[in-house]
Order: sequence, then C-alpha cells, then structure tokens
Amino acid sequence: MKIVRTMELITILNHCHRHRGFVYQHARFAPDRLSIEVDVRPRAGSAAICSGCHQPAPGYDHLPQRRFEFIPLWGFLVFLLYRMRRVECRNCGVLVEEVPWCDGKHQLTRAYMLFLARWARKLSWKETAESFHTSWDKVCDAVEYVVGWGLQHRTLESIRAIGVDEIQYAKGHKYLTLVYQIDQGITRLLWVGKERTLESFQGFFTVIGEQLAAQIEFVCSDMWQPYLDVIRQKCSQSLHILDRFHIVAKMNKALDEVRAAESRQMAREGHEPLLKKSRWCVLKRKENLTSQQNLRLRELLRYNLQTVRAYLLKEDFQQFWEYNSPTWAGNFLDFWCYQTMRSRIEPMKKIARTLRSHRQLLLNYFKAKKQFSSGVIEGLNNKAKVTMRRSYGFRTFHILELALYHSLGKLPEPELTHDFF
Ligand SMILES: [Zn+2]
Repeated sequence: MKIVRTMELITILNHCHRHRGFVYQHARFAPDRLSIEVDVRPRAGSAAICSGCHQPAPGYDHLPQRRFEFIPLWGFLVFLLYRMRRVECRNCGVLVEEVPWCDGKHQLTRAYMLFLARWARKLSWKETAESFHTSWDKVCDAVEYVVGWGLQHRTLESIRAIGVDEIQYAKGHKYLTLVYQIDQGITRLLWVGKERTLESFQGFFTVIGEQLAAQIEFVCSDMWQPYLDVIRQKCSQSLHILDRFHIVAKMNKALDEVRAAESRQMAREGHEPLLKKSRWCVLKRKENLTSQQNLRLRELLRYNLQTVRAYLLKEDFQQFWEYNSPTWAGNFLDFWCYQTMRSRIEPMKKIARTLRSHRQLLLNYFKAKKQFSSGVIEGLNNKAKVTMRRSYGFRTFHILELALYHSLGKLPEPELTHDFF
C-alpha cells in the first residue's frame, strides 16, 4: 500500500502548471528565505522547439540560467529556474528555444502575467503591484501582454452600432478619441485614438476595413466637427445620431456660464448675493435635488434673473426627448430655438444656433426609435474616466490606451489549463 505522507510543491505544480517536454525537479527556499526557487529541466529525450518556426530542432548549446517569475505563494515569491537551450534549426539557423510558460523577452511567466492583469482590472495598477510585492512596471508589462494578445485574437464581426466620444486627460490639455460598439447585446471599446482629429477617428476605419464599415447602421456622436466629417465620409449609409448625453452636458455648461457671470456682476454692483450656492440647484435635475436645494431653487425662481430664465429654457428642453415622432420633435425644437434666440442670453443663444445647424442629426434620434442613446455612451464614458484614474503612473498615451482596452475592450484572454484566479 502506498501512503502519501507529504504534498510537495512539485506535486502541486504538476497539477496546475504542467508542460509536455519539461519536468520540475526540485523546490527550495532561496538563500534570502523570501522566495522559492524551482528547477526546471527538459524531459529526457524531448527535443527543443525552435522559436522561429515552432518545429522541433536539434540542440546547439545552453544559455545561462534564467529566472521566470511565477505566481507568489503565501507571501513568498516563486521563481522557475531554467537554462534555455539554443537550437540549430534547418530553416532558421541558431535560435533560442521556445518554452510554453513564457514568451520571448518577458521575465514573468504567462500564468503570472494573466494573474496580475486580472487583478489590475479590479484594483489600481499600484494597488496590484503592492498586493503581490511586485513593481508597477511588471503590472504594466502583464497588462500589455494580455491586451496585445486580446487585440490579436478578438473578432470584429457584425458591428451594427458604434459611438464615438472624446475624453480629456493630462489635466485637460489632451484628448483621446474612443470608439465603442453599442449594439444591444454587446457594448465594448473598439478603438483608442490619439487626439480628437480627423486622422484619429479615421484610424478606426482603417483597422476595421471598408467591408465592416459598410455594415454599420447607426453612429452616435457628439457635435465635434471632425467626427461629423469622418462619419459622413465613412458611414454615409448609416443613420447618424447626436448623442443626448453630450447635448445635455453642453446645455449645462452654458447655464453655468450664465450663472457665474451674473453672480459676478451682482457682486460688483453691490446687490444681495442671490446666486450664492445656487450652482447645483440649477444644474441638477429637479428630481435629484435635496429638499434644501429645492427650497433654494423655489426662492430663486421668484426673481427675474438671466440665470432663472436660462434655467427655465434648459428645463423646458427636456421635453424634446419625450417625443416619439420626428415631425413633432422638430416643431418643438424650432419653437424652442425661436424663443431662446429672443432671450438675449448669449450662451443660450449659442446653444440654439448649434442645435439649429444640427437639426437633422438631432431628429435622427427619433428615427432610430431612441434605440441608442445617452445611457450607453455616458456609462462607458464614466467607466473610462475611472479607468484612467486607476492606471495613473505615467500618463502617456500608450499606458492609457492599454488601461482602456484592458478594462473596456472585453478582449479574449490567453487560455491556461488551470484557473489561478
Ligand atoms: Zn526554426
């Protein structure tokens, strides 16, 4: 009768991280007692694989021992120690062998990179590095590997609806262009472009190709002119919708301008500070006000201020989205713009002029039966902002791009035989 007395680390490794052609030999503490080292050897009689053509090839020589970092265990770092062989391949010449637990230049094993990358979606990159006693750079490496693999293996078929959005970073001085798929069944980030130019958005169409672009039925965007131009050019047959979320945001911005200017003017002229603490009363939706703010708003509405009139125009405009028929919505829009143009409130008049010049695109919202609207893009936009905050470290375009694809791209992941996470 065979009695198993101890469970060795080697046994566990053979269960969760076994590779044909290689054997784990011996596990021990490193001299510092902070890490565990496991020797790996080629299995007797199994040939090395050429990293150029992925075929077995005769051995040439051995390189010095390398340490491959594996998933840490109970607070100890774990390293696989292996001397890579070089092969003399008939096709490729003398090359280093390919090993299944790691690719090319990485110090981390594939399993560990996938493990770190998954945590980096739940925690900030810094927190991930701290939790596993590793560095921010290694977390970044791991994410880069997983995202690279995912982009290579994702499928970009049957995209019916896309949304394009711009997002600010680096303290508001720089922009990214984000393209999302916003189909009912799947919403995901498809493309990250540097800046918000014609070229950055065109980059997306280069990636998906003409055939896929021709199948897009709905495009949702804000009023940024370069985007409008690209959409007209690349998706001429699709229904182009202006995004509700961006219009509401624009209107709030105009209202805030009116309020701030009027508040300053009243202070200058020595009036009672009526508009003090009024900011949220007028910017928030009525149903979201606290009872204190509600009281404040009601008091404010008694005065004939520009801010109050602008506020009423903004509130009135909410009705626009309630229509079902494009014709009636159009009538409402015309009347609202007419009224607003007579208001003598410049920021609001500017909004009216913008809405008028985009009338057709605004009404497309009703033609699309409101299928693709504010909620989706606004949600993705918020998630993108949270992601950018979490990946902080180096605010380079490349890092942001990685972080955004990683958390919003719904990318496929390399598969492991064991689920470590
Ligand atoms: Zn080869």
